[in-house]
Amino acid sequence: MFTFKDLLQLFPYRHIDKTKISNIRDITPQTEFIQVAGKVMGATIVGEKKAKRFVVDIKDSTGVLELVWFQGISWIEKMIQPGQNYLVFGRVGFFQGNAQITHPEIEPLTTEKQDGKSFLEPVYPSTEKLKARGLGGRQIAKLTAALFQALHEKDIPEILPDEILALLKLMPRFQAFSSIHFPANVDAYTKALERLKFDELFIAQIRTGLIKSQRHRYSKGVLFSHVGDLFNTFYKKYLPFELTGAQKRVLKEIRKDTGTGTQMNRLLQGDVGSGKTIVALLSMLLAIDNNFQACMMAPTEILAKQHFDSVSSLLKDLPVMVKLLTGSTKTKERKKILEETLNGSVNILIGTHAIIEDSVKFQNLGLAVIDEQHRFGVAQRATIWDKAIIPPHILVMTATPIPRTLAMTAYGDLDYSIMDELPPGRQPIITVHRYDDNRQRVMEFIREEIAKGRQAYIIFPLIEESEKLDYENLMKGYENVKAYFPEPKYWISMVHGRQTNEVREANMQRFIQNDTQIMVATTVIEVGVNVPNATVMVIESAEKFGLSQLHQLRGRVGRGSEKSFCILLTSPKLNKEAKERLKIMTLTNDGFKIAEKDLEIRGPGDIEGTRQSGALNLKLASIVNDKQLLETARACAQRLLDKDPDLNSAENLRLKNHLNSEFGKTSWSKIS
Ligand code: ADP
Ligand code: MG
Repeated sequence: MFTFKDLLQLFPYRHIDKTKISNIRDITPQTEFIQVAGKVMGATIVGEKKAKRFVVDIKDSTGVLELVWFQGISWIEKMIQPGQNYLVFGRVGFFQGNAQITHPEIEPLTTEKQDGKSFLEPVYPSTEKLKARGLGGRQIAKLTAALFQALHEKDIPEILPDEILALLKLMPRFQAFSSIHFPANVDAYTKALERLKFDELFIAQIRTGLIKSQRHRYSKGVLFSHVGDLFNTFYKKYLPFELTGAQKRVLKEIRKDTGTGTQMNRLLQGDVGSGKTIVALLSMLLAIDNNFQACMMAPTEILAKQHFDSVSSLLKDLPVMVKLLTGSTKTKERKKILEETLNGSVNILIGTHAIIEDSVKFQNLGLAVIDEQHRFGVAQRATIWDKAIIPPHILVMTATPIPRTLAMTAYGDLDYSIMDELPPGRQPIITVHRYDDNRQRVMEFIREEIAKGRQAYIIFPLIEESEKLDYENLMKGYENVKAYFPEPKYWISMVHGRQTNEVREANMQRFIQNDTQIMVATTVIEVGVNVPNATVMVIESAEKFGLSQLHQLRGRVGRGSEKSFCILLTSPKLNKEAKERLKIMTLTNDGFKIAEKDLEIRGPGDIEGTRQSGALNLKLASIVNDKQLLETARACAQRLLDKDPDLNSAENLRLKNHLNSEFGKTSWSKIS
């Protein structure tokens, strides 16, 4: 905290009724926070070095309570006078069966305290360190109160246009700030909270709305004026299947975007297996037909290689040069590719983030496809803009469905398409949850599937913190699987992060070619790997995975026309959250439903890819709990921008001033 504004925006997480002082006798193991008043009986320093602590006994007419400090002892010791009365607030804990409060907020009890103006005293978040130095929540409350003594209405001016204020009957902004800290009553607090939440959501929507509309209006993009020979020939002669309705719709959207002369910045959300690759391929052909190059970026080498293989083979009879560039491309080969990319002979460059390195220069890049977007940050996206004088069109594809509310907030500046239809003939994947002691039966099941000519994945967790242990588990698991499936009747591939690229690649290829029937792997294979003949996905220690990860993994099967199965193996001891996750997995195959649940369970901060977006910088509002308010804010923001896209009208002046002072005079169109 550096400024008064920071202090103002440190919101209380609760209020306590100052008139309510509890009896020490009434503390039960269920008591969370408590406020008591009493006389300090004894105050002593006990223990030494790390165990050193300051212990105070405070007594009211009903009993004695122990207060303990581990830090800031000398400071607090000076402040506490035995025999004096104090007001104490804090979280009750139990130590060897006795109630105590560690690092409580404490202040001398004065009679005038009892008849202060406000009944509801704010409680602010603080840290142990701050508390130990006397800056607990209660001291912060004092600072905030002092600040409000000095503030006038003009210091927190209104920012919303009158029309919205009137329409939604919102509390004025100054009053809202005042009431969220020092509400006269519960109702005032509720109204203040609603007002400030609305502001957060509304401002976020206005900002992304501005970026989007200004980009649409001003940012020059390359023009794909026509559909040419490559696209048409491929579509008529080489397309291996009929496109789904969703694929056709998205292609239309892409053609429309790229044909306007402004830059496309489109997020394509499609559940695993919905067929995003072919959409990317057709879009790239569109670029080439219009004399531009295209590139496609994937988060891992395996994926990049796989895209390269499938794109090359689909295009093998067409005059299109496709090249692969990854971190392991040999120097000589790399040099050649760089030359050919610069002189324009490479039409499609596929690779990992190696393709956004500075040394990679295109002659005329027209389209960049980014697959599995959640692995790439906003900054990386932005680098692609610099690859050409006129920024290329950008198509970001993600298989991690994002709930609508999150998409609206975190990706509101992008145009987005949803592919909510799977190719025909797919059967829903059957998902079951089994405990470890059923492993034998699971292995038998795999054997039956292999006997029908199918293949199976067995996935082990790999969590960074316990990498060594996980690795040992993987090896043990591998030996175990080998015992069930002995050579030469069965062959097993193993893929994990500690292998060299060559070994990993070789194992991958053997599985793809059905030379091995079982793939034992860590989550390296999580994204995008496509082996339609695989019908069983076993996930070991499934309780250690998050929902979207489980869904991604499950998406590796069910890619062909055969019935597929996902078996979640766990230990019998599961916490509530894990149980909930596993249950959702067995109930639905719908990625969007799973994403909603994931958001509910984990909260937005943890959803992959949103952490760095900054758009979720919400202090009060929550996109999980305030969906309705978010919809309202979005509708208001859109209506306002439709009427006044540059915020030039008099009634929107204060909003514009607020945006400028908060975020600077941004050139909105330059943000990707
Ligand atoms: P994802 O959206 O997960 O990237 P892919 O593009 O890898 O999905 O496609 C999954 C599988 O579905 C591939 O084997 C692909 O060839 C196939 N596929 C894609 N579109 C169709 C379609 N319209 N009809 C039949 N199969 C399709
Ligand atoms: Mg894919």
